[in-house]
Amino acid sequence: MVEDEFLDVTSQPLADRLVGAGLGVDAGGAYCWRCGYSIGVFESDGGGCGRCRGIRQPWGQTVRLGAYVGVWAGCVHEVKYTRFGQLGHELGVLLGRRLARRLVDAGVDMQRVLVVPVPTSLRRRLSRGIDHPRVIAGGVGRGLGVGTGVRVPVISVLGRKHRPSQTSLPASERQVSVRGTMSVSRASAWWVRMCRPGVERRLRAGATVVLVDDVTTTGATLREACRALRVWAKSAGVGQLQVVLGVVAVTEERRGGVEKGLDGV
Ligand SMILES: [Zn+2]
Repeated sequence: MVEDEFLDVTSQPLADRLVGAGLGVDAGGAYCWRCGYSIGVFESDGGGCGRCRGIRQPWGQTVRLGAYVGVWAGCVHEVKYTRFGQLGHELGVLLGRRLARRLVDAGVDMQRVLVVPVPTSLRRRLSRGIDHPRVIAGGVGRGLGVGTGVRVPVISVLGRKHRPSQTSLPASERQVSVRGTMSVSRASAWWVRMCRPGVERRLRAGATVVLVDDVTTTGATLREACRALRVWAKSAGVGQLQVVLGVVAVTEERRGGVEKGLDGV
């Protein structure tokens, strides 16, 4: 309401866009359940797809809405650069409903699920005026609740140091550039322990963390977030964390090995 009335920020509702573009949400079989990349029919099996099979990754599964092209790229761009929070929330709800289906199918206990957004640095939040992964994560929490009838907590526990944009870096250097930039501060850990007993209970029972971001390209940012979460879990003496990725869009590799996208921006 505030956006509509006072900021004059308006946007076409998500459902209209999808119908207008002749697009639904990705069918589960259109991408690899493990790494999230687009694949052909029957190209993935229990171990993933040809791209990720045999490669270690710190999350178990990936759920996405689409490839980072067309309408999905437009939506992500709009949320990020025009501060259109309502669209971010709608994307999150859609993603949350899809995640709910996947988690229930996988037999995950919804009473142990937590949603954590990938953090953005304070400088970026201030310059953009929106913490877009956090907005999307709020929608994911809502969508998970709608899909399962369980209230799923959303906690922004991760903090991030500012680093120059990753878009200018080749894929090989992104992991090095992002390493060590994320952590759960003592204050955040204390806040969870003292103020969020439901979250603490889930952690002790061995939580499944749904890690939420808008776009992934190389996965470097998400790997760093997983590392920081596991360091926290270890220092807090809680059980093993299972991580499931929830991303709006996945940037696909271009021919010639050059990747373009907005990973970690
Ligand atoms: Zn794969």
